[in-house]
Amino acid sequence: MSKFWSPFVRELEPYVPGEQPKMANLVKLNTNENPFGPSPKVLAAIQAELGDSLRLYPDPNSDRLKQTIADYHGVKASQVFVGNGSDEVLAHVFQGLFQHGKPVLFPDISYSFYPVYCGLYRIEARTIPLDEHYRINPADYRQPNGGIIFPNPNAPTGCALGLEGVESILDHNPDSVVVVDEAYVDFGADSAISLVDRYPNLLVTQTLSKSRSLAGLRVGFAIGHELLVEALERVKNSFNSYPIDRLAMVGAVAAFEDEDYFQKARQAVMAERDRVSQGLHAMGFEVLPSAANFVFARHPSHGGAAVSAALRSRGIIVRHFNKPRIDEFLRITIGSAEQNDALLNALPEVLAGQ
Ligand SMILES: *Cc1c(COP(=O)(O)O)cnc(C)c1O
Repeated sequence: MSKFWSPFVRELEPYVPGEQPKMANLVKLNTNENPFGPSPKVLAAIQAELGDSLRLYPDPNSDRLKQTIADYHGVKASQVFVGNGSDEVLAHVFQGLFQHGKPVLFPDISYSFYPVYCGLYRIEARTIPLDEHYRINPADYRQPNGGIIFPNPNAPTGCALGLEGVESILDHNPDSVVVVDEAYVDFGADSAISLVDRYPNLLVTQTLSKSRSLAGLRVGFAIGHELLVEALERVKNSFNSYPIDRLAMVGAVAAFEDEDYFQKARQAVMAERDRVSQGLHAMGFEVLPSAANFVFARHPSHGGAAVSAALRSRGIIVRHFNKPRIDEFLRITIGSAEQNDALLNALPEVLAGQ
């Protein structure tokens, strides 16, 4: 705290991202990064862009990327918004599409950036408890609100909501914007992009960080009715007119052009997810059914904090949330086969030692 801070800044409660330790040789299974590198075509496209053109500003409207995403998902370019990671897209959503005076609804166990943005933009938040199976119950989202947001699959549970559930929420909230945050959708859930032409109140956000192995490039996007996209453009152009840099732009376009690599990488992650889930289950863990690139698991006789600490002392980092309802759980990112083996081999010793 400093006297130079504005009263506004004094009251902020910033997001705390998963740790990015600087030590080498860690088995890092804590931030849902993809164990496979980006497509070689992405790297080639970025390399080809390295040169004199970097003295020029990028296209302020990212038209080429918008058109690429629009073609990929079968929508119009005017229905696509792009930003520096979906976190930036979500920031503009909270500012541009959620109404003040009524609470924004999201699950009690969900992405912890949502309450941070509510604080930043002075929007009231109301959390809706997941049911006893840690699932979203659409019937709970029938109450006055200034907007609704939830990840699908949810984070950190990994559980997916079927499209009929998403539609039920949309049908009962025609006067609110409903945002489906599909950061993990490519690992096994159905995308609500297929619904955008029927629901003018639906906005779907996705990211290249997880399924396309480009967390370091910072590219995310939203798809919805063009009037929703226009609101996001108005906020963006009042804040920073050049959101996607030249390298990110060509890399992101190339990622969508290498469908073969994308399919192989996501299938490999899903296959490893099933193997890790079975391994954990065999050791007595309860593993929630995951449609994401991580699993959420708890052991009936070993607390999450203790197991996480014991794994850490063996150089394996997983995520533990010291929060009500989920403090027994570990969120474990699906890594490479070698990383997953390291986890599965360390756990019996960890459990025996407690
Ligand atoms: C990772 C994640 C994001 C943001 O990803 P970006 O890297 O900013 O694109 C958004 N929502 C959820 C639920 C996430 O897990």
